[in-house]
Amino acid sequence: MDRNLKNTKKFVPFVEVFSGFDERMNIPFVPAEVARRLLAWYGEEGRDLPWRHTRDPYRIWLSEIMLQQTTVEAVIPYFERFLARFPDVRTLAAAEIDEVIALWAGLGYYSRARNLHGAARKVVAEHGGEFPAELAGLMALPGVGRSTAGAILSIAFDRPGPILDGNVRRVLCRLFALEENPRGSAAEKQLWFWAAALTPDDRPHDYAQAIMDLGATVCVPRKPDCAACPLGELCRARALGMEQALPLRVKKKPTPEVVQVALFLRREGKVLVCRRPYRGLLGGMWEFPTREVKTEADPLQTARELARQWGCRGALQEAGAVRHVYSHFRLDLRLYAAAVEAQPQVGEDDGCRWLSPEKLGGLALHGAHQKALPFLAGAG
Ligand code: SF4
Repeated sequence: MDRNLKNTKKFVPFVEVFSGFDERMNIPFVPAEVARRLLAWYGEEGRDLPWRHTRDPYRIWLSEIMLQQTTVEAVIPYFERFLARFPDVRTLAAAEIDEVIALWAGLGYYSRARNLHGAARKVVAEHGGEFPAELAGLMALPGVGRSTAGAILSIAFDRPGPILDGNVRRVLCRLFALEENPRGSAAEKQLWFWAAALTPDDRPHDYAQAIMDLGATVCVPRKPDCAACPLGELCRARALGMEQALPLRVKKKPTPEVVQVALFLRREGKVLVCRRPYRGLLGGMWEFPTREVKTEADPLQTARELARQWGCRGALQEAGAVRHVYSHFRLDLRLYAAAVEAQPQVGEDDGCRWLSPEKLGGLALHGAHQKALPFLAGAG
């Protein structure tokens, strides 16, 4: 017996009509019953979202990438702005990466913007501008993992592609009462197996959206609304009274805190900004000259060293501080201002520019440095 299913003995089929036990899946119901119920529910309760009015693979792909780690509410305005500027994959592929990153600014997880641009170029260069209509081809695009590929395949092409995003993962963990870390490798394998086995050949387009909607609106992380759930009579977690306890929550490591200094360096009414390398954290985003403060080091001293590197010998003025939470760390950013007498030569190749403050608003500054902008006016 599968070790994930240790409660099978306690468990009896609780709906007579679905009492056929599926040995292969260790489930006490006919797998097709899940799709039948979800599809009926989706017809009544499915959400009306901007990307649901189309089967255009470009729009479906764009929405799926934006929705990774991000809420529907946050995505909608970005989705609409992106489409207004890049109505098709060729326009996106032809754009400069800087413009793509600037339009993405504020949505977080910036590697998605770079991957989006790379994938668009690949679709144009290798597929003649048409998205591949099979799993392997989709998964070969930058930023498209197995679940995203499954979603695009199902929603855009109406071909069965299993999905295991956060919402679906939660539904399956509860439906099958998976009592172990859902991110463990055995659980992961089991979940993919269930996801694939439940995906129907008929109407995968609707099924994909139905199961994602169920996780987003009914089988929510806290207080799932089991009374309103179309899978209520099949759900093992509900039968065992475990719907609130599953999926198992694994203790996360505490988020590290990082202290950095950033400089408002002014010269002849302009201020210096630098672009981060394209590869790596916040790649391609802009920021004021920044340096991490080593443990035990003095932020002011670190700021002085950084300022000297930019030819600034004068006094530094404290200009404020901002806090910002990134995906892997919390940032405490201390701001200092100074005038620079001998303007260091910077060129496009250095990734640095002297810009008038009015022009900074149009730049893709990353989160903490966006928050720092209001402090610039009062500094120096
Ligand atoms: S019955 Fe409750 S726990 Fe089970 S799938 Fe439905 S909402 Fe989730």
